[in-house]
Amino acid sequence: MNNVTELFAPPIGSEVFAKIDNQPFYGSESLSLKFLESMRKSSHSKPLYNTIEKLVANGTLVPCWLNKSILKLVIFRMTAPDSAKNGVAFFIPKYKKIYILIDNNINNWGFASNDWISTITIHEMCHLLAKTKPSAFVSAYTPILKEYYGNLFKRIFQLNIVPDVSKFIKFLFKKFEFTANTNLYNLNKYYEYVMEWKELSSFNSEDYQSMAMLLINCIKIRHINFSAWYTNMSKFSAILGPMRQAYIDVIGEAFNGVNTNVFQELDVPSEVIAVISEVKNKYTSKVYQGLKKL
Ligand SMILES: [Zn+2]
Repeated sequence: MNNVTELFAPPIGSEVFAKIDNQPFYGSESLSLKFLESMRKSSHSKPLYNTIEKLVANGTLVPCWLNKSILKLVIFRMTAPDSAKNGVAFFIPKYKKIYILIDNNINNWGFASNDWISTITIHEMCHLLAKTKPSAFVSAYTPILKEYYGNLFKRIFQLNIVPDVSKFIKFLFKKFEFTANTNLYNLNKYYEYVMEWKELSSFNSEDYQSMAMLLINCIKIRHINFSAWYTNMSKFSAILGPMRQAYIDVIGEAFNGVNTNVFQELDVPSEVIAVISEVKNKYTSKVYQGLKKL
């Protein structure tokens, strides 16, 4: 073993399972088995066990030991209570793989750990489905997305009805989720979409327009400079507040059990499904049905 491995002290018998940006990640056969055992035990992931087992076997889901230097990259997901914070997961679209990073100090694969690790795994599986099987994703989840974005815009712009957002959702998929392209052209198009509901709003023309600009800036600044956006988050409360409330419109009080911060939804529709997957609610079986297509 070289110095790097000693620094992070992966358990004996571990080998390099992945390399991301030249950073080695260590795993082992026994870790993968432990992970699967934990997925089988958690009531949250049990219904998806066969899918998860298949994804581990084909190398799409990669359990590794947590490497401390990666923590800063994923810090925004670390909002769970300390007792449960023994793993992080992230999806790398380029590799079409999900890395589940498990704390190598974990000494208790108990209820809290099983549940936490299954929650973050399923969350990332939603992003994976959107990227690898987009038409399956769209056909499974469009009704949920219509409900979320309809309520979101009703709240942001104080509309008197839930608007029809079908065309907007297609646009969001095509130009943002699948291509992750927040160029000026796409942002202008986004602006034009939200301006379509102007007549339904109780805002005057000027207020409506400035709210639309705030929304566009919320997306733009986040992409240009995330840490600047993060420290100035309160400036966007008129957008971020409704983003949380729209979840309550869709899944009710179950949303209070969600651990993830809300901010990607404006331009990443799979985040909506990923967040809804985290807690038990009226759409749980629908979300799982879609994920079984992975
Ligand atoms: Zn996510």
